[in-house]
Amino acid sequence: MPWFAPIVWDGTFDITILDEQFRNTTIGLTVFAVKKYVVFLQVFLETAEQYFMVGHRVIYYVFTDRPVDVPTVALRPGWQIVVLQAQSYPRWQDVSMGRMEMISELCKGRLLGEVQYLVCLDVDMKFRDYVGVEILSPLFGTLHRGFYTAKRQSFTYKRRPQSQAFIPEDEGDFYYTGGIFGGLVPEVRQLTANCHQAMLADRDQDIEAVWHDESYLNKYLLYHKPTKVLFPRVPLG
Ligand code: UDP
Ligand code: MN
Repeated sequence: MPWFAPIVWDGTFDITILDEQFRNTTIGLTVFAVKKYVVFLQVFLETAEQYFMVGHRVIYYVFTDRPVDVPTVALRPGWQIVVLQAQSYPRWQDVSMGRMEMISELCKGRLLGEVQYLVCLDVDMKFRDYVGVEILSPLFGTLHRGFYTAKRQSFTYKRRPQSQAFIPEDEGDFYYTGGIFGGLVPEVRQLTANCHQAMLADRDQDIEAVWHDESYLNKYLLYHKPTKVLFPRVPLG
């Protein structure tokens, strides 16, 4: 079955119409800064203040094991930072995968009623240009910048049938990055809870997918098609 994926990039939308449509929306942003990754927070938050969801209301949910190291940044009026305790696992793979569980717990709890959409990002990034409500949709994923021109056969999906993240050779739409996804709170809750359960099931069998949470995210988005797919904006030339 062909799938006409709704791919979004600069020039495919009219931001003034969308800004109006999302006028009363509060957007949550989750970011994890565990152990040495706290050093990325300053630039991440400062550039988010400059470029993320300008004109809208945002609540940052910063998960960390080092709350005292969360930098103070000047927030726009009405914006908020909520610092939450993160599990600090010895292995970085577990820190990365543990995000799914912690985000799903967040979606079950305080988020309900607090925000409508949730955007889940890696912390080792910075914003270099505006990122607004054009990315929002009930469920969205982002093409991995290393694979958007690649053929399906070279996607680094999990190819071991025993794994919960297994995707057969003749299946797969895209290779999505684990660093940028989101959607409506109930959708993100379902995605993260599903990925967390799949990881637990694999761990019981001593299996760990090659690209960790990203592998499980790819499996989920293959069978739960995102309603928007973000194109990786890469410099030309
Ligand atoms: N992370 C963290 N502490 C760690 C390892 C990972 O906070 O020790 C979080 C952090 O938000 C990071 C994300 O997990 O951006 C994914 O890890 P990483 O960025 O190293 O993965 P990659 O982008 O290389 O796949
Ligand atoms: Mn990263």
